[in-house]
Amino acid sequence: MNGYHIEKYYHHLFQSDIALISLIHELGLGERLEWFRGTTGYFINGRINRMNTPLEILRYEPFSLLDVARLAFFVLRSKMIKDPGELDDVTAKEWILENAGRSVYENFFAPLLASKFGDSSDRVSAAWLVGRVTIRSNRGLRGERLGYIRGGFQHLIDALAKKIAGNGGIIRHGTVDRILVSGGKARGVRIGGETIDSDVVISTVSPHALFSLVDVLQLGLDLDVRYQGTACVLFGLSGKVMDDTYWLNIKADVPFGAVIEHTNFLPVSDYGEHLMYVTAYFQDEGSPLCRMRDSELISTYIDGLEGMFPGFRDKVKWARLARSSETAPVYETGYRKKVLPYETGIRGLYLAGMFSGANYPERSMNGSLVAGFECADIILAGAGIKY
Ligand SMILES: Cc1cc2nc3c(=O)[nH]c(=O)nc-3n(C[C@H](O)[C@H](O)[C@H](O)COP(=O)(O)OP(=O)(O)OC[C@H]3O[C@@H](n4cnc5c(N)ncnc54)[C@H](O)[C@@H]3O)c2cc1C
Repeated sequence: MNGYHIEKYYHHLFQSDIALISLIHELGLGERLEWFRGTTGYFINGRINRMNTPLEILRYEPFSLLDVARLAFFVLRSKMIKDPGELDDVTAKEWILENAGRSVYENFFAPLLASKFGDSSDRVSAAWLVGRVTIRSNRGLRGERLGYIRGGFQHLIDALAKKIAGNGGIIRHGTVDRILVSGGKARGVRIGGETIDSDVVISTVSPHALFSLVDVLQLGLDLDVRYQGTACVLFGLSGKVMDDTYWLNIKADVPFGAVIEHTNFLPVSDYGEHLMYVTAYFQDEGSPLCRMRDSELISTYIDGLEGMFPGFRDKVKWARLARSSETAPVYETGYRKKVLPYETGIRGLYLAGMFSGANYPERSMNGSLVAGFECADIILAGAGIKY
């Protein structure tokens, strides 16, 4: 786009994404991986409250001093939990009310949970929350540092593709219509009427998508993992919108939950224009966010943004909507039991992706990479191959 690559959905790395960071180095992209300040803010009562340093958190408008102390205690308490999975049957709401009190819940966490999980937010588990708090509170006195591949994650995809081709692999693009199974064993896939034979098939699609690809009864697995969708608009802008905030959480009557000004994270000179994502999660395909026409959804977002940032409309050069109904599992209580194993009831058919244990209690690029490695280890061990 305009001579540069930019992700459809905002993406960054955390310092705990060890497997991904190693892969980036292994592929010779280490010099492109840079760590930038990921400044955050909270839009509440009509204004942005910066939330980067202890002093800024102390000044957070809706909080009393006691609330600040409660939040600090809550973060420490959460970080002491070694296995967040222990809290899989407790709701995040119960856990916050018990450990931080109602004011911290209502003025801080409830809007965040609502923007991330909509109507399902009361059912989200404390395991997800504790996992999230542990990653996000790994910050110094000046705030959080997040990683990005300068020039875009497309460099990672290209380098991976090159490496695969260099090792004799062939990448085929297209939609799989069917996973071919006979005698209880996976034999290959069918893409657009063409059959590709294989010894092993690894599926990374959502459990729900498997229903049209294979006789799921043969898998012998409970595929009842609920996913949610995302409606994310990327705006190309003639000017800056926020001071220096990268990530803005929102408590206001607008149809989106977060605003992410990418060019407050990466230098605007990398792009020659300002870039900002505006995003919302939706719970099912009946949601207006899923059903609205593209142009209607974009104008609804622009109306909301104009209310928050008067003059926003005049800055818009272009807007692109990315929307998908399966972008993340809903980590509700009891989710841990639904994590899918790599092996299935069909020999030679494996599952690795957002639904795997490596992505519990939160999904990430790193988690799916680890799932891929763990699955490959099982396949190689089963075939007696050492590497
Ligand atoms: C808005 C948003 C922001 C995010 N931000 C971050 C972030 O900052 N950091 C981070 O680490 N992660 C982030 N993530 C999560 C990250 O993108 C995912 O965890 C990761 O992409 C999951 O990879 P995956 O390969 O397991 O699944 P997917 O990326 O979902 O891959 C599965 C693929 O299968 C394809 N598919 C489905 N059916 C078929 C078929 N029949 N034939 C062929 N292909 C098919 C799908 O189109 C999809 O491309 C974000 C996600 C979203 C939506």
